[in-house]
Amino acid sequence: MQTTSQHIVEVAIPLPLEGSFHYLVPGRLSPLAAPGKRVLVPFGRRKVTGYLLGDADAPGAGDLKEVLEILDEEPLFTPAELEFYRWIAGYYLHPLGEVIKMALPAGINLVSRYRCEQSEDGTPVLKEYLAGGKSVRTERLYTAVPDCTVRPRGKGLEILEYLLDVGECSGPQLRERFGPCTAQLGRLVELGAARLSQREVYRDPFKAREYGHDGPLQLNPAQAEALAKVSAALETGEFSPFLLHGVTGSGKTEVYLQSIAVALGAGRSALVLVPEIALTPQLVGRFKRRFDCGIAVLHSGLSDGERFDEWRRIRRGEASIVIGARSALFAPLEGIGVIVVDEEHEGSYKQSEGVRYNARDLALVRGKLGRAVVLLGSATPLVTSYHAAQTGRLGYLSLPDRVRDLPMPQTRMLDARNHKGEIFLPELIEALGENLDAGGQTLLFLNRRGFATYLVCETCGHVLRCPNCAVTLTYHRIKGKHVCHYCDFTMLPPSTCPDCQSGAITLLGRGTERVEDQVQKLFPDARVARMDRDSTRGKGGHARVLKELEEGTVDILIGTQMIAKGHDFPGVTLVGVLSADASLNLPDFRSAERTFQLVTQVMGRAGRGDKPGRVLVQTLAPEHYALTHAVAHDYLGFYREEIAFREEVGYPPFAHLAALTFSAVAAAQGERAAEEAAGLLRRIKREARLRVEVLGPVTAPLGKVRGRFRWQILLKGVERADLHRLLFHFRGGFGHPSTVRLTIDVDPVDM
Ligand code: ADP
Ligand code: ZN
Ligand code: ZN
Repeated sequence: MQTTSQHIVEVAIPLPLEGSFHYLVPGRLSPLAAPGKRVLVPFGRRKVTGYLLGDADAPGAGDLKEVLEILDEEPLFTPAELEFYRWIAGYYLHPLGEVIKMALPAGINLVSRYRCEQSEDGTPVLKEYLAGGKSVRTERLYTAVPDCTVRPRGKGLEILEYLLDVGECSGPQLRERFGPCTAQLGRLVELGAARLSQREVYRDPFKAREYGHDGPLQLNPAQAEALAKVSAALETGEFSPFLLHGVTGSGKTEVYLQSIAVALGAGRSALVLVPEIALTPQLVGRFKRRFDCGIAVLHSGLSDGERFDEWRRIRRGEASIVIGARSALFAPLEGIGVIVVDEEHEGSYKQSEGVRYNARDLALVRGKLGRAVVLLGSATPLVTSYHAAQTGRLGYLSLPDRVRDLPMPQTRMLDARNHKGEIFLPELIEALGENLDAGGQTLLFLNRRGFATYLVCETCGHVLRCPNCAVTLTYHRIKGKHVCHYCDFTMLPPSTCPDCQSGAITLLGRGTERVEDQVQKLFPDARVARMDRDSTRGKGGHARVLKELEEGTVDILIGTQMIAKGHDFPGVTLVGVLSADASLNLPDFRSAERTFQLVTQVMGRAGRGDKPGRVLVQTLAPEHYALTHAVAHDYLGFYREEIAFREEVGYPPFAHLAALTFSAVAAAQGERAAEEAAGLLRRIKREARLRVEVLGPVTAPLGKVRGRFRWQILLKGVERADLHRLLFHFRGGFGHPSTVRLTIDVDPVDM
């Protein structure tokens, strides 16, 4: 049956399956088939949406199934984008179809649903959707007219009484309660018993604003030098990655803006990635004031439809600058000249589920494939980035001084040792009182990410650490032991401090909720607010607290790292750090780096107005290098100690990591799968002579999540190629029951 004229295509399917699949394209669809379009194909007993990758010549085409439908008029991705997706699928060992699905805006799948379910009839719906856009959506609201004397009957009366009761209500809400009632509602309005109004359900916070215009600033010498290097790199048209190292307020954003201006002048475009929390109207305003070109902003407040609208604008070339958080990395921007990754050290660039990519790392890949300049900006670069700059893999641009010569805050460490675990040391209480009396605002910073419980000596500050891995040991209540979750080293709780023999050793890691109570007790008149994920849930909660602080209706704000970032609080003259220890003792090899970054950022919150600021860091580890160097504003000093530690114990950049997690509802099944996997990994490693350490399996840091038990295997390879070969062969050879879930995390960030 096979003839030479058969049209065979390669299709990626967004399911957890390796490889791509071949299908026959029937003659009627053949002219429409093109790489980058979605196709509807039979798969097992289902019909699924796949992505057409290109033509293929597969032997044995007689067995192939046929493509059922071509779902797009135009390709959704270009050959260059496909190359990028393939790179990601290979590097993160994730199915290509799922990578493509993740890279495309979810709104596309709304369209696909119409198409698939309604076939021919679906077309008008599709057109309407595409043409209408969804940037402004309204909702119909019904309000009862209180003194209207007309009384309807039956269901109409029920609805009216309900409206009188609740005030106002939308059509869908009423239908949910009363069933179909469009006729009754129409009648109520006609009778004058109810009023109909329209309300905008959602507004894009960035669209409606007036931003005005401004021009480039006269650069200071350090900025000018940075810009000159970027301009020269743009001129070469080659991939040129840079680390832009400068404290907050040193003028990094101005360098981004002027670099982008150079790129635009050369007919190229720009992609700007920032942490979601920094994606504020103020930041967007700086770009909108500076540039007349189209600017697309991809933020988390967009609905799927709105995101899809922005995506199509970019695809059509109507935006030359795209600003967004992590996922903006996949914006369909062409001819990129500059990619900015601001706050490159932020952990939030790593996606923690699905395709576990890191947008900071992939910005370099995208820049390389597209021959762009990549600017990684930070006040506290990742030690791996600084190391790359030292060894020449990144260019180094430095902005050593603040533009406006604000004084650095006065910082002091408070030694909490020998204080029996008091929440506040006397010095901190005194400072709080003084600051309240002087009318200043205070931030109290705590880090509640520390879910793990660990043992600390209150006399000398000693913390139990793994002798092999140097990470803090985590106390497992059920086992009654201290465990390393990298290598499974365990030990029984000691009765005295192994370092100073004091008996004052305690388990720490929780209990920070008590801080708010304690503050209220100490200062009953103070206006205290708390900002963390729990207290500011829901849209606007976060913004509300910030506004209160700005308006001066809050004296003391207690918060997690959410308050450490970006925001400018001119009224804040005192910052207290209570939980430097919790972050130092996360069971994670990056705990020192995280702590240095956090304390540096927190310190940047004090005294940004006219009044000088004060920072107090209360800790059981006042001699720890992450704290001493943060307090001394000494990045280089910190870097030197941290890089030595990394080299000694074998952590990035001197080794590359991957974490394999196995989870199952039945503990025994998960454990067996993890053990078999470790056996297979060790066998492959031995036979192929790969220089990779296989650590574990161990109970994962969060042992049981949503009813599933979890195990983890950590792989550590000096050569990245060895690590990837091991993973690749493992994935090809490992089978596990479908009740066990396996995730592979290459370059894990939280572990
Ligand atoms: P960063 O991004 O490093 O925090 P910014 O670029 O935001 O720094 O600069 C901090 C402040 O200094 C901003 O208000 C900015 O407008 C201003 N600024 C930056 N560069 C200059 C300059 N060359 N001359 C005058 N003001 C500048
Ligand atoms: Zn001790
Ligand atoms: Zn260990």
